[in-house]
Amino acid sequence: MKALVYHGPGQKAWEEVPDPKIIDPTDVIVQVDTTTICGTDLHILKGDVPAVTDGRVLGHEGVGTITEVGAAVNQLAVGDRVIISCITSCGSCSYCHGQLAAHCLNDEGASGIGWIFGHLIDGTQAEYVRVPFAENSVHKLPAGVSDEAAVMLSDILPTGFEIGVRNGRVKLGDVVAVIGAGPVGLSAMMTAGLYGASRIVAIDLDNNRLEQAENFGATDAINSGTAAWKNELLALTDGLGVDVAIEAVGVPLTFEMATEIIRPGGTVANVGVHGRSVELKLQDLWIKDIAITTGLVSTSTTPMLLKLVAQGRLKPERFVSHRFTFDNILDAYDTFSRAAETKALKVVITR
Ligand code: NAD
Ligand code: ZN
Repeated sequence: MKALVYHGPGQKAWEEVPDPKIIDPTDVIVQVDTTTICGTDLHILKGDVPAVTDGRVLGHEGVGTITEVGAAVNQLAVGDRVIISCITSCGSCSYCHGQLAAHCLNDEGASGIGWIFGHLIDGTQAEYVRVPFAENSVHKLPAGVSDEAAVMLSDILPTGFEIGVRNGRVKLGDVVAVIGAGPVGLSAMMTAGLYGASRIVAIDLDNNRLEQAENFGATDAINSGTAAWKNELLALTDGLGVDVAIEAVGVPLTFEMATEIIRPGGTVANVGVHGRSVELKLQDLWIKDIAITTGLVSTSTTPMLLKLVAQGRLKPERFVSHRFTFDNILDAYDTFSRAAETKALKVVITR
């Protein structure tokens, strides 16, 4: 088969590799019908994730059709259309029992991290992929849900919801600010409405992303590149700040911004993946009764989100900005990596 293979920083190729095979009786093999590229794949290609080694097939998002099932798989069958979750869950360790599969203890490599596709084992940017612990790690697609909608449930939609909205404890009437209007921040905006937020304020430096945010549930948009941004934001509240600030960028500045706009009693939910240390001004924050949350998505809410998608309450197919086929996956990477110029949100790649 062909797959997108990582060959060290800056090096990747769409090339012939051996077909994946069932290794454990709980595995299935999925023919990938639709996949997409995540910002994390770009981080890997920069060499920021050293656990990813030369020869690894990238990708942790995908929708496909089961072509082979292991001897212990009873709940899935050849021909089933499934969403492949970015998190693999053994279903039996203490973390999986606690709905925290992000820290599954039985992942291959035993690192206590449930994100293994395109990281510790071969991923979904390939014609076929082996899925371990399949019964706990894929979700059967109901009729009527398109691949383009479903593939957003592999990672971005549960991430924005679980690590942004749910960790942020969004409740009725809240004013929610989301810093970073990329696919993950937009997913938080899309799902913050489910909890009755009264205002959802998108904050970004890119006016194109801010314009798009209004299609994803934002009620207001602020460009934080201006000196007035904080006053503009405070004017949308009673002057005290927002109830929930969701950080969806992953740089020190945006985390500090989140802590500067939070009202007493509020919650800062960090979603961004940080590569550098961040200053925490506890001398100002201790007296404000705020909570700061962090997290890696567990995808435990995917079945619930899938119901909302099936009912048309959420329309994640709106994320699709560009379409490619596997033969053109290198063009897909190029388009996605120049998002500011190409206005890419999610690029989908199909068989
Ligand atoms: P993205 O790069 O597409 O979007 C980031 C957005 O932030 C862009 O629109 C950019 O214009 C904006 N931005 C950059 N610098 C800014 C600044 N100084 N001020 C305001 N806006 C700024 O990323 P994404 O795919 O949406 O992912 C967002 C973050 O979430 C990343 O750090 C990603 O690694 C992380 N992530 C976390 C998890 C998790 O489980 N915690 C899972 C997936 C992704
Ligand atoms: Zn587990």
